[in-house]
Amino acid sequence: MYLCAVKPNLTMKKILFVLVMLATLVFAGCKSSESSDEKAYSPFDSTSLDSTVSAGDDFFAWVNNKWLESNPIPADKASFGSFHTLDDNSLKTLRVSMEKASKENAAKGTNTQKVGDLWISGMDTLAIEKAGIEPIKPWLDKINAIGTSDDLIKTIAQMHRTYNFAMFTNWVGQDDKNSADVIMNMWQGGLGLPERDYYLAQDAQSKKIRTDYINHVKNVFVLMGVDEAKATTNANTIMTIETALAKASMDQVTMRNPNAIYHKMSVDELAKMTPNMNWKLYYTELQTPEFKTGVNVAQPEFYKALNGMVKSVKMDDWKTYLTYHWVDGVSPYLSSSFVSENFDFHSKKLNGIEQNKPRWKRVVESADFCLGEALGEEYVKTAFTPESKERMLVMVDNIKTAFGERIKTLDWMTDSTKEQALIKLSTFTVKIGYPDKWRDYSKLEIDNGPFVLNVIRGAEFEANRNYAKIGQPVDKTEWGMTPQTVNAYYNPSNNEIVFPAAILQPPFFDPKADDAVNYGGIGAVIGHEITHGFDDQGRMYDAKGNLQMWWKDKDNTNFVERANKVVEQFNNYCPLDSVCINGKLTLGENIADFGGITIAYQAYTMTEEFKAGKAIAGFTPQQRFFIGFGRIWAGQYRESAMRTQLLTNVHSPGKWRVNGTVVNIPEWYQAFGIKEGDKMYLPEADRAKIW
Ligand SMILES: [Zn+2]
Repeated sequence: MYLCAVKPNLTMKKILFVLVMLATLVFAGCKSSESSDEKAYSPFDSTSLDSTVSAGDDFFAWVNNKWLESNPIPADKASFGSFHTLDDNSLKTLRVSMEKASKENAAKGTNTQKVGDLWISGMDTLAIEKAGIEPIKPWLDKINAIGTSDDLIKTIAQMHRTYNFAMFTNWVGQDDKNSADVIMNMWQGGLGLPERDYYLAQDAQSKKIRTDYINHVKNVFVLMGVDEAKATTNANTIMTIETALAKASMDQVTMRNPNAIYHKMSVDELAKMTPNMNWKLYYTELQTPEFKTGVNVAQPEFYKALNGMVKSVKMDDWKTYLTYHWVDGVSPYLSSSFVSENFDFHSKKLNGIEQNKPRWKRVVESADFCLGEALGEEYVKTAFTPESKERMLVMVDNIKTAFGERIKTLDWMTDSTKEQALIKLSTFTVKIGYPDKWRDYSKLEIDNGPFVLNVIRGAEFEANRNYAKIGQPVDKTEWGMTPQTVNAYYNPSNNEIVFPAAILQPPFFDPKADDAVNYGGIGAVIGHEITHGFDDQGRMYDAKGNLQMWWKDKDNTNFVERANKVVEQFNNYCPLDSVCINGKLTLGENIADFGGITIAYQAYTMTEEFKAGKAIAGFTPQQRFFIGFGRIWAGQYRESAMRTQLLTNVHSPGKWRVNGTVVNIPEWYQAFGIKEGDKMYLPEADRAKIW
C-alpha cells in the first residue's frame, strides 16, 4: 500500500501531472521486472510496421503490432510497454552500483556504506526468514496499547511518519493560492483497495474484488498467528470501517478541480470542525514545524465523517484496522509468507500479475525510494551526457516557440487572454537530467540489520525532510523524481517542466536519430508537459504558480466547450467490454497528449530536416514524425490491469493515447492520406481543436 507506491518526494499534486503512471498505487504494482533482454533498436525501421493493418484503420496497431508480438507481457508484470524496457535498464544499472557498494567496505555514514548495506540487508533472505515478523513487533505492541482517542491519534501520527497512511493522508506542498508558501495538506485516505468506487460499485467484478480483499485481510491475520474465526471477524471489521471511509470520500473526477480541494484553515478551525480529533497532539507527534499560515483540508466532508467515526467505531476495531494496515504496508519487506500474501492480492488478484519480481529488483526499488538521489548520482555518471542535455534544451526552446506561435493564431481566444498565456509560457522553467544539488542523506541511518527497519527508517527520513519544509522558502532546485526514473512531470506551482535522465533514451530520445523521430518522441513528451500548464487544471494557475483565474469569461467558455469534445470522444473508447475510458478523469492527460503532439509537430516543421523534405526508407518527414509518436506508447495490459487502469488512472491506455490523439490532427490525415471510409476517419466537424 505504500512506499514504492506514492513516492513521497513526489507530492500528490505533481502525481496528477506526470507523463505516465506505470502502475497503480499499490506496492507490488510498482513497475519494472525481469526478462526483456534489450532488443536491437534502430531509430527508424520501416520493416517494424504491420503491413496487414492500414494506418487509417488502426494507427497504433500498424505502428506497434510487431513490437507487441515480440514483446509479450512478462509473468511478473501487469503491463508491458516501451517505458518498462527502459525501466528495466535503469534497474540493472542501479543493481550494479548497489552490488559494487556492498563489496567496498565503505566508511560508516557515507552514501556508499548506506547503499551497500541496504543491498546486503535486502538480499539476506536467511536473516529475513529467520526474523519473520519480529522486527516490527514494537509497533504492534504500540497499537495494542492504545486506550484513549489521544493514544489513537498519536499512533496514527507515528505511522504517518513512516508514510503508512492509515485513516487519512497528508502531504507537504506549495500553497495553491500562494506558491511561495509551503504548507501541510490534509487528504482523504485510509483505504486498502485502490479507490473509493471499489467499495461502492455493484458490478460482479467489484464484488469479487471485495471478497478477495476480505480474504486477503483474513490471511494476513492468520499469518500473524490469529485463529481463523477471529481473523475472519477482523477482516469484516476492516471492510466495514473502510467502506464508511470510502462513502465519505470525494470522487476522483471532482478532485481534479483544484478549487474543489482547496479549503485552507487554521489548526484551530480544523479542531473546531473535528472536535474528536486532537490535532495539536497529532502535529506534535508528527514533528512538524509550527503552521504560520494554516493547513489545507482538501476534503472537509471526509474529515467530518472521520470525526464521527473516531467516536462511533469501537477502539478495539480501530486497533484491528491499524494492525492490518501496519503489517500489510511492510509485508513486502518481511519473510516470504508475508511477501507472497501481499503479492497474491495486490499484484495477482488486482492486476493479474503471475509471478513476483526477482528479489534483486524489489531491493533496488526500495533503495530507489530510500536513497534515490544517492543512486542517481552514480546513475548519471554512466547514463547521461552533456550533449543530450544540449540537444534537449534546443528542442524545448523550439517547442516553446512553436506553442507561442500557435497561441497567437488561435481563433477562439481574445487578445488579452492570449497575452496572459504568452506571459505564462515565457516563465516556464525546465530541468533536464539531474539536480544541480544532490540530497544530503547524512541523517539517514542504514545498516546491515533487518531490511524492513532500513526501509522504515528510509521512509521516516523522507517524512522528516518533507515536514521540515513547512514554512520555509521554496527550494526551487529540488526534484520530485530521481534521475533514474523513466518519466517526466509538470509542477504548476513552480511552472516548471522536468525530464529525468532516464527518459532521454530511445524510443523517446536518440542522439543518433533524425529529428522526426526525436520530435515525435521526446518532443511530444516535452509538448505534453508544457501543455499541462494549459490543460483543464493547469490553466487555472497563473505564471507565478498561483491558483488564480487569468482567463476572460468568453475564453473560458470556449475552452470548456472544446475540452468537452475531448471528454465525449474518450468516453466512447471502451478498451474492455464493460469498461470505457472515463473522459473526465483522463481529460488533463488527453489534452496534454493532444497539445503535445500538435506543438511538437509545429516545432518539427521549423527544422532544416523537415524543410528539406527528404524521405527515409520511403517515408516522408511527416510520416516518420507520427510513427515516432506512435512508437513511444507501444505497450499492452493484462485484462485486470487494464480494468484497474481504467478505473483509477488519469492516463488513457497507450493505444488510445495514440489513436485518440491523432484523429484530431489534420497533419496526420495529410501524412497518410486518411480519408472517409478509413475506420479512424473523423469528419472535420467532429474533430477537437484546442491548442
Ligand atoms: Zn501528463
